[in-house]
Amino acid sequence: MDAEDNLRRPPPKRPYAPVDQVLKVPAQALEATLSLLQRAGDRESGLFWYGARDAAGNGIVRHVAAPRQTMSWGNFHIAPEALAEIVHRLPQGCKPLAQVHSHPGMRVEHSNYDDRMMSSRRSLSLVFPSYGASRGVFPEGIGVHEWQIDYWHLLGDTEARRRVVVTDGSATMEDRRWP
Ligand SMILES: [Zn+2]
Repeated sequence: MDAEDNLRRPPPKRPYAPVDQVLKVPAQALEATLSLLQRAGDRESGLFWYGARDAAGNGIVRHVAAPRQTMSWGNFHIAPEALAEIVHRLPQGCKPLAQVHSHPGMRVEHSNYDDRMMSSRRSLSLVFPSYGASRGVFPEGIGVHEWQIDYWHLLGDTEARRRVVVTDGSATMEDRRWP
């Protein structure tokens, strides 16, 4: 498999326009996310954040899921059936809020491949560096992306801090990657 990270994409035609919506992620969900990414070892892995979204578009993460997938040092792939296994078991009202995946190095911008792999444009996309090795204060060093008009924008530090906020509360996790 090719390293998806090598597939650079063109820059945006217009700048990201900051939005009012906030995605809240309980510290417990964040810990689960790092743990799931680190369990993949020196391989990229993809996860999903699910939870509630209010009428204004604000979300709170309640469930972190790792579907069945193939993983390699520079790529991962989730088949639609593998994602369906997760989605069909979600509680009523649970919506996809973000896709999460890891990169080998410090580069956390979407590749062309990442743009194509996004299953929902209403979700955010978070890219964790160094296979999820934790460092810094979230979301420092993490690539937070949001779709606007025609592009998955990589948010600047200030915008990312405003858009995704760590909060209290509980979250569950699910790992279907291993037999
Ligand atoms: Zn990627």
